[in-house]
Amino acid sequence: MKFAPLFSGSNGNAVLVSSGRTHLLIDAGVSGVRIQEALMAAGVDARGISGIAVTHEHSDHISGVGVLSRRYNLPIFATEGTWAAMRERLGALEMRNIRVIRAGADFFMDDMNIMPFEIPHDANEPVGFSLYAGGMKVCVATDIGCIRDKWMSEAEKSDILLLEANHDVDMLKAGRYPYELKRRIPAKKGISPMRTRGSPRRSSSAAGSSGSCWGT
Ligand SMILES: [Zn+2]
Repeated sequence: MKFAPLFSGSNGNAVLVSSGRTHLLIDAGVSGVRIQEALMAAGVDARGISGIAVTHEHSDHISGVGVLSRRYNLPIFATEGTWAAMRERLGALEMRNIRVIRAGADFFMDDMNIMPFEIPHDANEPVGFSLYAGGMKVCVATDIGCIRDKWMSEAEKSDILLLEANHDVDMLKAGRYPYELKRRIPAKKGISPMRTRGSPRRSSSAAGSSGSCWGT
């Protein structure tokens, strides 16, 4: 399997996972044109993309989803909660491209098996994805706020694991986020804002029964 993080961070996220035959985009949080260019740089023609799997409805994960679906007739896979939160923001879509998925219920795209799993994040039914093809497993979880045992078991035995956790206290304070969110995130039980800088220090073997949080 081929794996290419095209964009990452609060300015936009998109990951390409390819079996060689199936090319799946996970999120498309920048413009359609930029995604096209990034795909080209990764050696994949945007016309060959098989579909887009959406982790959650935040703008930095969906801003290119609608336009790419219209331009290339791409199916969009998202949970019911994510659809409810993003549907109107994607613009007109073909009914056949609206695909509802559920955490714990796997599905196939040609030779790729895709398992959505719950992730802890401040969004409406967000998910991460485990992808299987050619005897390999790729696990993608972005904007993770907490490590839970349940999540660690999903991440286990991955050949490639993309784990992203963005929470910087100064960025949160200065960012264009609603006041309620700014107040709520650092106040969450078990979160120490000072510990949220940089990468999580927790290893998979250290995950306790209640898990560990460092932000969202
Ligand atoms: Zn998010």
